[in-house]
Amino acid sequence: MKAYRSMVLVSSDPASIEQGANEVYQALQSEINAYGLENEISLTMVGDVGRHDAVPLVIVYPEAVIYGPVTKENVHHLVEEHLYKGRIASTLQAPIKELSGKIAWLNTRKGTLPAEQRIVLERAGIIDPESIDDYIIHDGYQALAKALTEMSPEEIFSTLEKSGLRGRGGAGFPTGTKWRFVYKSKSSKKYVICNADESEPGTFKDRLILEGDPHSIIEALTIAAYAVGADEGYLYIRGEYTIAQQRMKKAIQQAEEMGFLGENIFSTDFKFKLHVHSGAGAYICGEETALIESIEGKRGEPRARPPYPTTNGLWGKPTLVNNVETLANVPPIIRHGADWYRSFGPPSSPGTKVYTIMGNVNQTGLIEVPMGITLREVLAIYAKGMKNGKPFKLAQTGGSSGSIIPAVLQDTPMDFDSFAKAGVALGSGALLVCDEETCVVDLARVLLNFFRKESCGKCNPCRIGNQRAYEILTNIAEGTGSMQDLDDLMLLSENLYQLSNCGLGQTAGTPIRDILTHFRAEVEAHVRLKVCPTGICPMSGKRI
Ligand code: SF4
Repeated sequence: MKAYRSMVLVSSDPASIEQGANEVYQALQSEINAYGLENEISLTMVGDVGRHDAVPLVIVYPEAVIYGPVTKENVHHLVEEHLYKGRIASTLQAPIKELSGKIAWLNTRKGTLPAEQRIVLERAGIIDPESIDDYIIHDGYQALAKALTEMSPEEIFSTLEKSGLRGRGGAGFPTGTKWRFVYKSKSSKKYVICNADESEPGTFKDRLILEGDPHSIIEALTIAAYAVGADEGYLYIRGEYTIAQQRMKKAIQQAEEMGFLGENIFSTDFKFKLHVHSGAGAYICGEETALIESIEGKRGEPRARPPYPTTNGLWGKPTLVNNVETLANVPPIIRHGADWYRSFGPPSSPGTKVYTIMGNVNQTGLIEVPMGITLREVLAIYAKGMKNGKPFKLAQTGGSSGSIIPAVLQDTPMDFDSFAKAGVALGSGALLVCDEETCVVDLARVLLNFFRKESCGKCNPCRIGNQRAYEILTNIAEGTGSMQDLDDLMLLSENLYQLSNCGLGQTAGTPIRDILTHFRAEVEAHVRLKVCPTGICPMSGKRI
């Protein structure tokens, strides 16, 4: 490795690219050359660093100074002051107006906020995602080497089980147990699949991992294949994630050239072939059996279960399906051991969780924190409080079908078991925060509109139930609802849960149930008084 005086990183997530990250990179390259610093400064495009309010970002190490948003017009000043004269640009009178005051923040840690704990995002925003050398230098493929040359499948399962790792896609099923199920299924052909069809609105954590650290998923899938006895795998990536797809394909090619994929990996007789499969944009293909149908070239509709994919998956063969975030936890656990992993978070839900924060807060973005942090802490520390100081009203966790959390539950630890005890679900990690100006009827109506369109239509309770719930909520919003409608909505919610074939229909009624449980008075005001307390719904435009 060549030693450099400074390392300059440019964020290259879609938002950064949209805002001119490529032009900034090129301008930095030519300015660094113009100052004759090309042998002293390394310049790299990195993945998403989790901050989207000031992109594109330019991060300079070893000082760990983050500038943003940077435009190509700012670059000359930045290079001259920081890289040539060695002064942080924020301490100077910036000659360019746009740069003055836009120095976003000075951080003392590697691109992370205090108290964040990065395990799955440990390299995202730090390494060049298109360089396998960068990944290897940062401990990449060590876990695969250890797994293949030092560990039996049984040791891998027991390590994962002892670590307490649970699926991060929403269900929270123990990962080691799932892997063991596939291992025990008798078949000469098995598959492993990474579910990267991250279609939950507002969730983009998997994209960030794929774009920022693609080799970590290849490494994890290869370990999984070795453990369960598979020789072929698929990365099912949502169609809209074009950058992630490009980087994964490039990473696979690099891994094949280096011998981490293909035949005789690490001089063993283990072989593994990995394919990238692009989704076509259907929300339902995030459901694992619909995803499998889609890979098989069929319409993306969920299968009836049982049998489960662990015994009858892709083309009828035992198949392991894991979410991106779940898999990204595997190499660090193999490298550092189960006890290390259990040192983060509560005993029943060890490790970390990646959250995407959106809504009426001062700072949106993405964080990785230990399991068990409370919503109040997330809002205060990472979201920097409510926007314009307005009172918190609710948060929806886990995307469209997630639970709606009122203010009284803000201090519930965010882990699988604590949330389950409180009757809410952790879900995929999206956190939509709403202030007092949010109408719960309007919120539920928007969500049910989404579900009635995304229902695949295979089973009646979901196809008809979501449509009917949307119609009733529309009536309530327009001032023509009745008290009977509230009872009907609760019954619909229960029927959706009990009778639908898959998770989409089963959880579509969650927002209805939650607003009727936590905000019944507000819903009743729409029916009894024909008034929307927030003035959002079309019936009145008035506030009370
Ligand atoms: Fe399709 Fe909805 Fe039935 Fe799932 S619950 S199979 S999405 S109709």
